[in-house]
Amino acid sequence: MNMEQIRKIAFLDRDGVINVKAAPHHYITSVAEFRFARGIFFLMKRLLEDGFELIIITNQRGVSTGLLSINTLNEIHSHMISELRRRNIDLLDIFFCPHAANSCDCRKPMPGMLSIACSKYHIDLTSSILISDSIEDIQMGKQFGIGKSQLVITDKPNKML
Ligand SMILES: [Mg+2]
Ligand SMILES: [Zn+2]
Repeated sequence: MNMEQIRKIAFLDRDGVINVKAAPHHYITSVAEFRFARGIFFLMKRLLEDGFELIIITNQRGVSTGLLSINTLNEIHSHMISELRRRNIDLLDIFFCPHAANSCDCRKPMPGMLSIACSKYHIDLTSSILISDSIEDIQMGKQFGIGKSQLVITDKPNKML
């Protein structure tokens, strides 16, 4: 019998958790604007040591408004993945919502990305954790049945962006 691996996931918001978020109403639109948040490598390593696998779930509405192409978003994510890998931090997956508000069921706080992750992987939700700088995300995680959640207060938005 093929025993499917049951995974314990740390679902991580991106902007404001992994990287310093852009100023209000602005978006990270290039690799040059992407800066890792202080302490994030330590946090991610700690999660890995504790047996979590890492999935990023991120709203990227800038794609729908034309501020950011899918290619550029993929470039930013490739950069992020390789910088993390250099530090021995491997992500299990990244899910993003490129849609405008109220036009899909994957833009957080809708739980679509969590549902997709659960259909792709065998996830033990009650042992999993969701980490975000948004209280709406935290509420979404609780409603979805994720066992733990942690609101993080990260660096102030980067005024230069
Ligand atoms: Mg955020
Ligand atoms: Zn969406």
